[in-house]
Amino acid sequence: MSKLLEDNATKIIEILKKTYPDAQCSLNFKNPFELLVAVVLSAQCTDERVNKTTPAIFEKYNTPLAFSKIDIHELEQLIHPCGFYHTKAKNLKACAQKLVDDFNGEVPKTMEELTSLPGVGRKSANVIMLNAFNNPVGIAIDTHAKRICNRLGLSKETEPLKIEKDLLKILKKEYIKDANHLLVYHGRNLCTARNPKCIDCPLNKLCTYYQKSK
Ligand code: SF4
Repeated sequence: MSKLLEDNATKIIEILKKTYPDAQCSLNFKNPFELLVAVVLSAQCTDERVNKTTPAIFEKYNTPLAFSKIDIHELEQLIHPCGFYHTKAKNLKACAQKLVDDFNGEVPKTMEELTSLPGVGRKSANVIMLNAFNNPVGIAIDTHAKRICNRLGLSKETEPLKIEKDLLKILKKEYIKDANHLLVYHGRNLCTARNPKCIDCPLNKLCTYYQKSK
């Protein structure tokens, strides 16, 4: 990786930190298991909708043991607003059962263990490592992060894992935590999928996409 790319990545994160000083995880949760459930539900769904759905669930069920015993049809009803409720309910029940059987009813604290859980991929595991355990080991590459990294020229890859690898090579370690939140905020606010607000974007001088489009 070139020094120029590393310097650009540093500048980008510093600018985004000033632009979004309050960037943080937007899913509501009170413990690691609640976050795990919220993350599973957030696939193909907005965090806002997940936050509206989870309080009623967590009021009745908020431990792996309780989840492992829920009637699957009741769980489907409870999570229905978040979409893909058959698959999500099946994964959540299987995940809760595995937590009970293999992890003493606790959410594990390593990427390897987290990604062994049904319904938990690398992106979700990154979110849990950062927000539940304050131990960011990687960067969750969602649709926002993917788009922004490609536009800014930080990675030419299209696969999330490869984009994450590129970022981890050029980002200073102390920026990994911030990058997780900042890329999501920037994607929601300025670097939107359609009609990105490039004129107003504080990154436009560093952005390959914008510089080429002028
Ligand atoms: S200049 Fe445009 S494309 Fe580049 S990061 Fe900003 S909003 Fe996104």
